[in-house]
Amino acid sequence: MLFRLYHMETDIEDSKALYYLIQRVPSMTHDVIIAGTGPAGLMTAEQSAKHGLKTLVLEKREKVVDSLMGELVTDKALNFLRVKPTSEFIGNKYSSIIGESLDTGSNIVVDRSLLGNSYLFDEDKCQELMRDRALSDGAEFRYKSRVGSVVKEGKSVVGVKYNQSDEARANLTVGADGSFSRVSETAGFTHPKWLLSYGYRFKLTNCKGIDPDVAYFYVGKDVGLGYLWLYPRSATVINLGIGRVPSSKTNWDKLPPMQDVLKKYMKTHPETQNAKIASINGGVVPCAGIIPRFTDDGVALCGNAAGQVSSIIGGGVTTCFHAGQVLARHAKRMVDEGDFSKKSVEQYEKDYRRSKLASSITNTGKGMWAVSKFAMHNDPIAAAEIVLGGKLDAKTLNELIQGSAGLSTYMNLISEFLPMVMKLGIGYMKAIAVSGF
Ligand SMILES: Cc1cc2nc3c(=O)[nH]c(=O)nc-3n(C[C@H](O)[C@H](O)[C@H](O)COP(=O)(O)OP(=O)(O)OC[C@H]3O[C@@H](n4cnc5c(N)ncnc54)[C@H](O)[C@@H]3O)c2cc1C
Repeated sequence: MLFRLYHMETDIEDSKALYYLIQRVPSMTHDVIIAGTGPAGLMTAEQSAKHGLKTLVLEKREKVVDSLMGELVTDKALNFLRVKPTSEFIGNKYSSIIGESLDTGSNIVVDRSLLGNSYLFDEDKCQELMRDRALSDGAEFRYKSRVGSVVKEGKSVVGVKYNQSDEARANLTVGADGSFSRVSETAGFTHPKWLLSYGYRFKLTNCKGIDPDVAYFYVGKDVGLGYLWLYPRSATVINLGIGRVPSSKTNWDKLPPMQDVLKKYMKTHPETQNAKIASINGGVVPCAGIIPRFTDDGVALCGNAAGQVSSIIGGGVTTCFHAGQVLARHAKRMVDEGDFSKKSVEQYEKDYRRSKLASSITNTGKGMWAVSKFAMHNDPIAAAEIVLGGKLDAKTLNELIQGSAGLSTYMNLISEFLPMVMKLGIGYMKAIAVSGF
């Protein structure tokens, strides 16, 4: 009991809170347990430790590096991470981004004045940075520690079981264990099973003729509902990746496997014909928006596990950093108040949902839902060609991607794209008829 009371900065006047604390505290070994060392888990760990919380991190992999931590980010992510654009943590910076059709070559250029700066992280260095910050503030990391389930006492989550027989206990358990979160599953949260984006990324060396200042997004019939990207790390090293959402099983089955699409790109582009695949990473990103509920008594989700991902582009790094910071701030409050009840943990969720980033996720989630319904019954590539063919200007495209488009933009779109919008409406009606809701 005394072991945990050092956190109480004020006398507890509320007898309910004291009762709660007495019931809960004796068996707890940590304030916070975090499952997963992706961007969400690492940021939560770094910030929790910085707030002075006794923090334990469990990761199933052998080490924190060598995993995909997203790729393309803007200034926002650098601000959250508190690193400078000129620092060793940045792998590259782009002056423009080009969206192009693989089938026809039509394209649209989005320059820096619209998008802000875009960067490629040096993933390993960023992961090490967050880990080292957490370690220096006293966090403990256990690798090769696969979380199997949460441990419950009554309705409260009081820790996790990992590696079959090990157990760790904390006042707050954080599921930052990705799209197929065990914490989420076993704590009883529900996830939409649709709109998952599957992705692969090759790191290619020995490329030639690459302009390191320009990043590319490609659409095309082989790509399907998603995009292929080329992010240079230098003039000879690039990341070539593909992400795709299955709009329906039939549509998915008609498409070539994603790795084949990347290999075809390599063969058909002189810059990559002699390139070597130095590494392959992959993953799944939820694109349906924030899940209906991600907090409960003694437990909270963060990052992909909570659907905190910008849906249209499948960007999760910035939103994970943001969510990790909000969560750690609330974890500190919970510890100070000695209250980890459902109502108390829920304050993290409420605070998070009120943020600008969360509302942009909700907007892009709705947009993605509309796009996927459209794609079930129409040709998404034909639509993309209209966009790339100059009907949509780069500013509007950027607003739509960021989830910040206003009413006037939508009004303009409706008049400009009436035929497409009509198709979309028909797509909706058919989708509703098929899915029955
Ligand atoms: C191919 C690809 C490209 C992407 N490109 C971008 C991009 O350009 N920009 C961008 O912003 N975002 C991008 N994203 C999305 C971004 O990477 C994710 O949204 C982000 O990594 C999610 O972070 P997370 O911490 O929630 O989960 P993850 O990064 O998935 O991390 C989860 C961690 O939990 C661990 N784990 C899982 N299960 C367990 C368990 N049972 N026990 C213990 N540990 C466990 C995993 O090993 C992993 O370390 C991309 C994603 C993919 C797949």
